[in-house]
Amino acid sequence: MQLLKERILKDGVVKPGNVLKVDSFLNHQMDIDLINEIGKEFRRRFPSDKITKILTIEASGIGIACIVAQYFGVPVVFAKKTQSINIDGEVYHTKVESFTHKRTYDVILSKKFLNEDDHVLIIDDFLANGCAMLGLIDLVKGSGATIEGAGVVIEKGMQNGGDLIRSQGVHLESLAIIDSMTDTSLTFRN
Ligand code: 5GP
Repeated sequence: MQLLKERILKDGVVKPGNVLKVDSFLNHQMDIDLINEIGKEFRRRFPSDKITKILTIEASGIGIACIVAQYFGVPVVFAKKTQSINIDGEVYHTKVESFTHKRTYDVILSKKFLNEDDHVLIIDDFLANGCAMLGLIDLVKGSGATIEGAGVVIEKGMQNGGDLIRSQGVHLESLAIIDSMTDTSLTFRN
């Protein structure tokens, strides 16, 4: 998505540890005009009218998913990261290792909000090693719902998350795929 790539080049900042900061427009301060365009682009790439829910994970996926959901006319449900080990039977449960925070979270989703009749589009801001996305896929599988696809705004193609998700047969669409980045240069996949 050209508009997004231009914005990453203009305002993205590369930090040590292979981290790209896009917090001036995507996941701290949010440019709503840009995210509306992102919503339209995901709708174009996932034209299915079967989708019943958009699923994301807190925290930074939520705002983006809410805007995207307006182009699908379906609710957003987000998986919650929890400290508590007391997981009751009313939730689907998985574990996710956080790339940015270098720790493992228990992640839960209420059984009230996802079941075998649902057709799910997963949305997230970044795809790096794929842990967050694999956790979300695990939650959907646990619910018996169907995965219609996964959309990420920025895929870091030099990490292996994209390959992992695609090898599971999930229809993955990334609006910008970064193949390499240094302090002074950033290369996108065509
Ligand atoms: P993964 O689980 O694929 O390794 O990482 C995905 C999650 O880590 C995303 O939900 C995102 O919040 C965070 N993340 C991964 N890489 C980056 C990055 O380069 N920049 C930012 N801002 N977040 C990232």
